[in-house]
Amino acid sequence: MFDLLVKGGTLPDGTVADIAITGDRIAEIAPKIEGEAREVIDASGDLVSPPFVDPHFHLDATLSYGLPRVNASGTLLEGISLWGELREIATVEEMVERALQYCDWAASTGLLAIRSHVDTTPDHLNTVTAMLEVREKVKDYIDLQLVAFPQDGLYRTPTGRENLIRALDMGVEVVGGIPHFERTMADGAESLADLCEIAAERGLRVDIHCDETDDPMSRHIETLAFETQRLGLQGRVVGSHLTSMHSMDNYYVSKLLPLIAEAGISAIPNPLINIVLQGRHDTFPKRRGLTRVKEMQSMGIPVGWGQDCVLDPWYSLGTADMLDVAFMGMHVAQMTHPEEMARCFTMVTETNARIIGLEDYGLKKGAKASLVVLDAASPVDALRLRPARLAVVSKGKVIARAPRGDSGLSIPGRPENVRRRAPRR
Ligand SMILES: [Zn+2]
Repeated sequence: MFDLLVKGGTLPDGTVADIAITGDRIAEIAPKIEGEAREVIDASGDLVSPPFVDPHFHLDATLSYGLPRVNASGTLLEGISLWGELREIATVEEMVERALQYCDWAASTGLLAIRSHVDTTPDHLNTVTAMLEVREKVKDYIDLQLVAFPQDGLYRTPTGRENLIRALDMGVEVVGGIPHFERTMADGAESLADLCEIAAERGLRVDIHCDETDDPMSRHIETLAFETQRLGLQGRVVGSHLTSMHSMDNYYVSKLLPLIAEAGISAIPNPLINIVLQGRHDTFPKRRGLTRVKEMQSMGIPVGWGQDCVLDPWYSLGTADMLDVAFMGMHVAQMTHPEEMARCFTMVTETNARIIGLEDYGLKKGAKASLVVLDAASPVDALRLRPARLAVVSKGKVIARAPRGDSGLSIPGRPENVRRRAPRR
C-alpha cells in the first residue's frame, strides 16, 4: 500500500508516468503502477514537475515594501539605504512573521527550496536570529539555505567581517559577499580572497553578489574565478547577478568566459530585479543589465534564474512564483527558441537545485517525494500560462491545492468553458 499515487501526469521530458510515494520518498516511477494507495491524485493531461527552486532571495527583507517608505528613485543604492533604516527598527518577531507569510506563498506555488541571503551587517544580528528561527519552522515543507551576506561590505563597517563569522558560527551555511560595494576595487578583490579562504577552511559553499552594477570595469568575477581555482572550490561557488558583464567589452568577455567555466563557477542572474534596477543612470538607449546568459550556457557554465526580491526596498512587486522569474528571464535574454524556452523551465527547477547543492532532488526512485502538478501540458506552456498549481507535494505530504484556471464564457455560439492551453502540434 502506497501513501500517495500521482497518476498519468506528463513529466517535463514529455513522458507520461505514474509516481508512487511511500513516506517522504518516491517509491516507484513507471508508465503504469498497479497497487493501492491511501490517496490518489489524477494528473492526466497535466504537467508533473519536480519542485521549483529559488537560488537567490532575501527573506529577511521580504514583504516590507513601503517600510519605512517607498524607494522613490528605484535604484539599488536607495534600496540599500532604506534597508539600513528598516533593519534597525524591524523586530525579530516582525521579520519572522513576514518570512513565514512569504513561505506560505512559496508553498502554494510549489517553490520548495530557497537560498536566502541574510544581512550580517548590524551588530545585533536580529536578521540572522530571525532567519534561523524561520529555517527551523519551515523545515518540514521548505528547504531553506542561508547565506551570510555582509550587505554594507565586509570591510566598510568596523564589525563587518567579525559579524559574518559570528553568523557562520550561529549556523548560517553559505559564505556571501559584495565586492563591488567595498570602498575600492582593491578592497573588493581582497574581500573575495578572504571570503573564499573562510569558506575553504570551513568546507562551505560561496555565493557572491558579484558586479551588480552597470560599470563595465567592475571585474570582480575574474578575481572570484581565480580564488575559486586557487582554493580548490570548483563547483561550490556562485556569482550572483554579474550585471556588469552586460556592459563589458566583447574582447574581454571572450577571455573571461573560459576562466569562469574552468573554475566551475555557476551564475545566477535575477531578471526581475536586474531589469528594474540596472540602467537607471542611462538616458537612451537604456541597457537591460542582464548578464550574458546564453553565451555562458554555450560554454557549459551552469546558469539558473533567481528571484532576489518580493515586495521589499528594491522591488515593489513579486509573487513567489519562479515561473514569473523564468518568464521575465526568457524575454530579457531573448530565449525564444523552443529549446531555450524549455531550458528556462529547467533553470528554475533542476539547474537551480544542482547549483545550490540540493540532495535527493528530482523525479526518480529514491528521491525526496516533492513535486508539483501544474494546470499545463508542458514546461513551455507552463512558462506561457504561469498556471494554477493543482497540487503541491512536499516530502510525501500534499501541502497545497488550487482549482484550475478555467473561465466560464457567456458568448452565443462559443464554448462555455475556456482553458487557454496551446494547440497541440
Ligand atoms: Zn540579492
